[in-house]
Amino acid sequence: MLTNVMQEIVHSLVRVMMRGSEYQTFCKCEQCERDIIALSLNTLPAHYVTTEKGRIAVFERLNTAENLEWINKRIIHSIYVVGKYPHRH
Ligand SMILES: [Zn+2]
Repeated sequence: MLTNVMQEIVHSLVRVMMRGSEYQTFCKCEQCERDIIALSLNTLPAHYVTTEKGRIAVFERLNTAENLEWINKRIIHSIYVVGKYPHRH
């Protein structure tokens, strides 16, 4: 097992945000979703784990209000970048 916990968090946050009314006008195809995740992850530190135990520990460490606010900011920025130039990444 080799998991980037940051990737899992970003993936689920992007899914939730793209379903929200705020981003109704943005393309929601898989390509754009992947581009948003990739672009966000390029500016966020990776947190790799090799066990389920490690995954839970890192998730709990990252899952704070302060961290999520910062991660959400990176995602919102990525949604706008990809939304401006969809399918070009
Ligand atoms: Zn798209």
